[in-house]
Amino acid sequence: MPKRNQYLILAAFAVLLALLAHFSGRMAAEPAFTFAKEEREVYLTFDDGPSTRVTGSILDTLKKEGIKATFFIVGERIPGREEVLRRIAAEGHTIGVHSQGHRYKEIYSSEEAFRKDVEACSRAIEKVTGITPGIYRFPGGGRHAREEALLKKMGYRIVWWNAVCGDGEDLSAPPEQLLRSSLETAKGKKRVVLLMHDRADCTATAKALPAIIKAFREEGCVFRAF
Ligand SMILES: [Zn+2]
Repeated sequence: MPKRNQYLILAAFAVLLALLAHFSGRMAAEPAFTFAKEEREVYLTFDDGPSTRVTGSILDTLKKEGIKATFFIVGERIPGREEVLRRIAAEGHTIGVHSQGHRYKEIYSSEEAFRKDVEACSRAIEKVTGITPGIYRFPGGGRHAREEALLKKMGYRIVWWNAVCGDGEDLSAPPEQLLRSSLETAKGKKRVVLLMHDRADCTATAKALPAIIKAFREEGCVFRAF
């Protein structure tokens, strides 16, 4: 092969390499396949039920919106509201243990009292729904080292919260205030666990729920249950 042709081939090869480097660099900077952006998740959690009216209204909204949520149950509030509890289970929501009696002094008085409270609530849920709960939420919140260790031994996953609608603190709060508090306390959090209550006196919570769902959806959030 004449020397001139050899140079031409080499030059063409160099151009090809330069082009490859250029495009592979571009591909690294701008991937051809963009993976779906990690979604911001909102866990709607309801404590202190079941109640007839408020839980029922919340379930209606969740059904309409196609959302699954999590309910932390008070065992002593089940009698007479078995149908409400069965509905929570039948509609695919997650049920957790909150407390049998929800009396702080009693629950936290000793390890034995705590264990009995958890077991009584779990049994009450199981009797009505056939479900053995695997998640737990502390009544009144706060950290309880001794009880946390015990719960782990009993096989429970403890669920905390990092946002509140504020219904627990102020029963007279109107729905707009609950919406505002939900958004403000959830701000900047990638995974939001929102504390709400479905007790009989939390009618404002049920009223605020559609607007809370709408607002989080507008922020691009997806809803999950534990
Ligand atoms: Zn509670």
